[in-house]
Amino acid sequence: MRRNLLAFFAITILTVLFTASASGQSQKPPIQITADLSDAPRKLFHAEVDLPVTEGPLTVITPKWIPGDHRPTGPVDGITGVVFTAKGQTLPWRRDDVDLYEFHLTIPAGVSTLHAHLDAIVLTNVSPKLAYLEWDKLMLYPANVPVRDIPIQPSVIVPAGWGIGTALTPIGRGANPVPAWGGATHFAVTNVEQLEDSPILTGQYFQEFALAPEISPKHYMDVASDIAEDSNLRPEALAEITNLVREADALYRSHHYNQYHFLLSLSDTAGGVGLEHGQSSENGIGEKAFSDEDHQLGDADLLAHEFTHSWNGKYRRPIGLYQTDFATAQQGALLWVYEGMTQYLGNVLAARSGLRSQTEYRDVLASSAANLDYTPGREWRSTEDTAVAASILRDGNPAWSSWKRGQDYYDEG
Ligand SMILES: [Zn+2]
Repeated sequence: MRRNLLAFFAITILTVLFTASASGQSQKPPIQITADLSDAPRKLFHAEVDLPVTEGPLTVITPKWIPGDHRPTGPVDGITGVVFTAKGQTLPWRRDDVDLYEFHLTIPAGVSTLHAHLDAIVLTNVSPKLAYLEWDKLMLYPANVPVRDIPIQPSVIVPAGWGIGTALTPIGRGANPVPAWGGATHFAVTNVEQLEDSPILTGQYFQEFALAPEISPKHYMDVASDIAEDSNLRPEALAEITNLVREADALYRSHHYNQYHFLLSLSDTAGGVGLEHGQSSENGIGEKAFSDEDHQLGDADLLAHEFTHSWNGKYRRPIGLYQTDFATAQQGALLWVYEGMTQYLGNVLAARSGLRSQTEYRDVLASSAANLDYTPGREWRSTEDTAVAASILRDGNPAWSSWKRGQDYYDEG
């Protein structure tokens, strides 16, 4: 593993800086986006977007290559109800014939703000009691511009009484936890790249726990559940998650974020998720997954894995996997670093923090080794090829899987 670690620092040359504040972005007026999750229990989100524009042809776009998904999973097929207006007049639009994520318009003379309304049909990571807002579901922004150069100011409306967990910086009403009330919650100006990286977890049964208060910057566990008592994590689980923050502090000896939020949904209907971000992570597991030691075993390394990605994947990202916009294809050859090393370190941290016992960790290692011993596809396909081909392997069709190979860049990486 030491060899991989050295290779990591030699190969990964690209820095992704965190700009949670608006510094340096004041020269351009920001896009204003208000996400309305009032209908989230019906699996429908709404957005009102105001874009600064000038006269002439304009192409706006919605994300295609979602960071962390490693494939073009942009939710364009769920975007509906699109209406563009300027000065009260509806403007016609036409989808690009080749790039289906692009909308073409012509901005009339004298118009400086384009308003867009859209709805998003969201079938995953929502339940009648909770929802994740991933901003790619609703974002529209000018095409062919680096996304970190596009300032944007987000607001969100959630169902009355639902709590809000996010690494975004709320303005006007205090933070941690973000106060729940009936109107829009506004956040500080950020940019399109960072907003994509800053999801919101909201729910009726919502709890926020401060973790390891002696460590700076601050870490929070934000939990939403389908059943009221599940979001009140048992003390043993909270102690292990606090250990995780301390063990990561001891292992990585650096922090590049202003604060970190573990977003955790406990639901049997919302579906599973594990998605990393720089200052937060989306962790979606079953409603009883943290209820006792036995239930916890199945997802014991999830929090540690996604937390590790804040360093390996976000603060530092292997070249090829970072692109300046979400339209350009990500290249996966170094996913054995991005995911493989994170898999290793996430498992180590899960064992060190007590989320998984040392015996269980050894069993996981033995299981991985035994699986690879009985994967004849390794005769024809390299582990690196499973990474290069990640975007066509991640669907996980199990047919002939030992001959085809799957995402072996995780465990074999
Ligand atoms: Zn990962």
